[in-house]
Amino acid sequence: MSDKPSCRIELLVLDGDDTLWESAVYFQRAENDFLRLMEALGHPASEVRPRIHRMDLLRLSSTGYGAVPYMQTLREVMTEHNDPPSWALRAMDSIERNLLEHPVILLPSVLSVLKGLHRIGVNFIVYTMGEFEHQHSKFQRSGLTDLVSECHIPPRKTEDELRSLLMHHEASSSRTVLVGNSPKSDINPALAVGVNAVHLQRPGTWAAEMEDYIHPDRVHRISGFDELPGVLHALELIDSSAYGEGSGGFLSSRGREVGETR
Ligand SMILES: [Mg+2]
Repeated sequence: MSDKPSCRIELLVLDGDDTLWESAVYFQRAENDFLRLMEALGHPASEVRPRIHRMDLLRLSSTGYGAVPYMQTLREVMTEHNDPPSWALRAMDSIERNLLEHPVILLPSVLSVLKGLHRIGVNFIVYTMGEFEHQHSKFQRSGLTDLVSECHIPPRKTEDELRSLLMHHEASSSRTVLVGNSPKSDINPALAVGVNAVHLQRPGTWAAEMEDYIHPDRVHRISGFDELPGVLHALELIDSSAYGEGSGGFLSSRGREVGETR
């Protein structure tokens, strides 16, 4: 917890995938490669794609989120249609390797904003779900380990999980902010426990993660990470003068007034 007067926020909780770094694009690439592979085996994409999505939703309750379970889904879809030839199995191995080892590329402004917030004493953690090893590897490769004090990786994000996180950090909900791109896993659990919720709205969010907000009037929507300091200022959790020193002030590149988030 910061004791700097310019920083009243106790904890900034940051989702990882598609909030700090690119993720969905690599799943989309894996799926497109897989659809081409299946077409080569005689199965049109128009039939295979809905099958993938149905099986993916079914498997969520038993295997959870992440690249490894997703590849299990693709392999199941392939083997229910075919006894695949060896070249197709080798192609699947490549698709899997590309997905699991994709580069970790930070989204625009993430690094500069986190450096500015770190400088005024904001304590932030990465809160990302999925398989521990894969998610931890992405965090290690993100270049954020010097700025971020912790990377917490539950199998899935729930109200109880978030409540435990706040207790562990002795952070009050009113002085905690969660930033994420998923209404289901990020925004609604935050709203349910009274945490300030900032929705980074990005195209390509997985359909299974879309959900109506449980308290729409309490959601702060941003379309880029550069808008986050303005939200924290509007919430009176950081001072604009302190953040602005050496950080170029608040960015409102989309023509919004600073702090106008709805
Ligand atoms: Mg995410």
